[in-house]
Amino acid sequence: MLEMGPVPFFIEYVAVPSKQEILGYGLWLVFQGTLYAYLPGRSKGRPTPAGHVLDYHTNGFLAWLITTTGFIAGIYFDVIDPTVLVNHWGGLVTILNVYGFILATVAYLKARLASSHPNDNVHLGNFWYDFFMGVELNPRFGQDWDWKLFHNGRPGIIAWTLIDISYTMYQYRTFGYVTKSMLIVDILQTFYVVDFFFHESWYLWTIDIVLDHFGFNLAWGSAAWLPTIYTLQVQYLARHPVELSMLNAAVLLLTGCAGYVLFRSVNNQKDLARRTEGDCTIWGKKAQIVRVQYTTTDGRTNQSMLLCSGWWGIARHVNYVGDLMLSYAACATCGFTHLLPWTYAIFMTILLVHRCLRDEARLSAKYGDGWKEYCKAVPYRLIPGIW
Ligand code: NDP
Repeated sequence: MLEMGPVPFFIEYVAVPSKQEILGYGLWLVFQGTLYAYLPGRSKGRPTPAGHVLDYHTNGFLAWLITTTGFIAGIYFDVIDPTVLVNHWGGLVTILNVYGFILATVAYLKARLASSHPNDNVHLGNFWYDFFMGVELNPRFGQDWDWKLFHNGRPGIIAWTLIDISYTMYQYRTFGYVTKSMLIVDILQTFYVVDFFFHESWYLWTIDIVLDHFGFNLAWGSAAWLPTIYTLQVQYLARHPVELSMLNAAVLLLTGCAGYVLFRSVNNQKDLARRTEGDCTIWGKKAQIVRVQYTTTDGRTNQSMLLCSGWWGIARHVNYVGDLMLSYAACATCGFTHLLPWTYAIFMTILLVHRCLRDEARLSAKYGDGWKEYCKAVPYRLIPGIW
């Protein structure tokens, strides 16, 4: 690209999508949007800074199940070509990127012209910052069709499983077998995706939903970055099969599963402690907490708590460690000859380290002395003794 220059590079290599691909993606969005709107399953979010307590459609598991079962049944009954997504990948990548840009632009204009909850907007007045980080916290159609929850989850994360299936079938068609490395990635990523949807009401309490505004960062990230970059391992393995010994396969599978168990167990502990306000048992003992308080923009003082026992007594962001173990195990199935399939693990490391710093700066300002007391009780961020 550096030799050719960006414009000739894009003209040469960016696939022009066909009408059929554009229509296919449009139907995909409509289908997922309809499942999101009509399937049963509702939960309440946390109060927003302006005090709105919003209803969310938490029916992601059902939507994933219907879509994935339908895709597999379509393959079984010869209605869907198993490698359909691989065959149209070039055009789809272009469409995903264009859609991500359009979505971010529409989100920005909506925030300016027809914001759902204007008193939750953050508008710094710098166009590029506002466009990138987002102005609206919870853009919606009507009362409860939430743009952020829908886009962060449905079109991208449900597609993740279908892309994995499609590339696995491509490997099978091309080479006549499916490698252990491919199966390990499929297993680990399916765990992760199913977990995400199964615990969707928990997701309403995470930084993505509680704090992050809906701008280019989330719109393009969920529409284009997630389905193309999070699936790089299967894209690589489908064309460059890696044969793992039984021992290496077992080590990677166990490491990935251990990462998943850690991720889920840590997140469950915090969820339990927050929902019971610390009146619960962690690892067989009464939860230890630090009571903290903060002041909201209306001048009111509010009480909260930070858990500092169980996993949360070991490090302040130990939930990120599980996620990282899972990402590194999945990438390691691709071997060490190419950097590209490692993009996911490298990205997760940067994202989560940056999140630690960003979240801690916010919590320190929010809780003041309470935060200092908590950091004294739990001195490390990610790995005890190191950082
Ligand atoms: P957390 O779920 O850890 O949420 C952080 C918030 O939790 C803080 O802002 C604070 O909120 C509260 N909190 C912090 N420490 C404590 C404590 N000791 N006790 C009680 N509450 C506490 O972080 P994320 O939302 O970033 O991540 C959630 C999960 O999602 C993680 O496991 C992460 O790995 C995963 N993830 C995956 C991504 C992917 O692309 N695959 C991207 C991002 C995250 P408050 O202001 O309420 O005090």
